[in-house]
Amino acid sequence: MKVFKFGGASVRDADGIRNLARILSRFDPHNLVVVVSAMGKTTNALEKVVAESRAGRTIDPLLAEIDRYHRAEMEKLFAPTHPVFQQLTGYLMTARQQAALIHEEDRVYDQVVSLGELISTTLVSAFLQQEGFPVFWKDARQVIATDSTFREGRVNWEATRGKLAGWQPELAAGIVVTQGFIGSTPDGFTTTLGREGSDYTAAIIASCLGAESVTIWKDVPGVMNADPKKLPAAVVFEELPFREAAEMTYYGASVIHPKTIKPLAQHDIPLYVKSFMNPELPGTRIHECKVLRLPPLIVLKENQCLVSCKVTDYSFVTEEQVGHIFQVVSRHGIKINLMQNSAITFSFCVDFRESKVLPLIDELSQSFEVYYNTGLTLVTVKNYDSRTLEEYRHKPGIVMEQASRSTVQLLIKES
Ligand code: ASP
Ligand code: MG
Repeated sequence: MKVFKFGGASVRDADGIRNLARILSRFDPHNLVVVVSAMGKTTNALEKVVAESRAGRTIDPLLAEIDRYHRAEMEKLFAPTHPVFQQLTGYLMTARQQAALIHEEDRVYDQVVSLGELISTTLVSAFLQQEGFPVFWKDARQVIATDSTFREGRVNWEATRGKLAGWQPELAAGIVVTQGFIGSTPDGFTTTLGREGSDYTAAIIASCLGAESVTIWKDVPGVMNADPKKLPAAVVFEELPFREAAEMTYYGASVIHPKTIKPLAQHDIPLYVKSFMNPELPGTRIHECKVLRLPPLIVLKENQCLVSCKVTDYSFVTEEQVGHIFQVVSRHGIKINLMQNSAITFSFCVDFRESKVLPLIDELSQSFEVYYNTGLTLVTVKNYDSRTLEEYRHKPGIVMEQASRSTVQLLIKES
């Protein structure tokens, strides 16, 4: 049994959905799970719906735009009388109702934002059916069991494994199409697994069902040693050890969702990253292997903020103070990307999300003199060689630098 995952870019329009069908036609239409994300930028659009509704503003134009976008693509795929048009209207009605509820914000977010995947899978499975594939549309919320941590649902593996076993008859008979990114709480509320979480869904399903492999179909030819949009000389890795791939995601490489690797590595299920534009290319195989001499991997993480906590009297930074800083950072749910200390200052770098970082700085200011700089890019060069080291070390505007034997990280002012 195999699991395929198609991201939003691959199904952003009618041609993309036709291409997905073309890719599937190259494979046995049995024992295959197809996990699909929301079309194009629908998740962002739905996030806006939630935000506008919370702010007490009208969401009509936003919903109308989501409707228009999907309908235009659907008209290229289906006859005007096809039931998918009604289904789209139904989903958007749900979005409107749910957005108006006065629950806590994160819960409302999940009830609304999850609709992008429900819509896309409804379209994809209807189209595959029309093309003669034996498909079964399945609601991922019936199988992916999570706790009630809205926006970042934590998987209940036992329950999920049990529920997924119920898919066996459909898998024996054909292709199961389901949503990435979503699950549900024990009391039946929808949860999401964190932005870009559809890869993770594919890994959850694969590990629970003991799949032979997972394939993520992307708009790049495989996992590359840098983002080709930023560094055109980037090359594709033929294969990568699980650990290497996991570390790449830690440093901010956006090619695979960070939670994806662990369940696959634990069950020794290889992960392929392949191009949906050129499905015949080999792509990257991530599995248990040893690769000697990987090319340097370069990851750029933009929009960073450097926070510096300075002790106010003439003492030095103590372990107790560092412990206090960690506690505060962790309580604010913030991840540190780089840190460094000196005699009187402890500095760390985080993603700059104002609504998260400013309250953190406020709280730290009660104990320290706090300074912060924004507009920074964190450059990580893993497995560096002397040439790349030289190249990056001499960039202008470096505000912090750290090197180990394998990895160098530089925090640079964005020009
Ligand atoms: N549609 C969701 C997002 O854009 C999940 C995903 O794409 O993986 O975050
Ligand atoms: Mg997406």
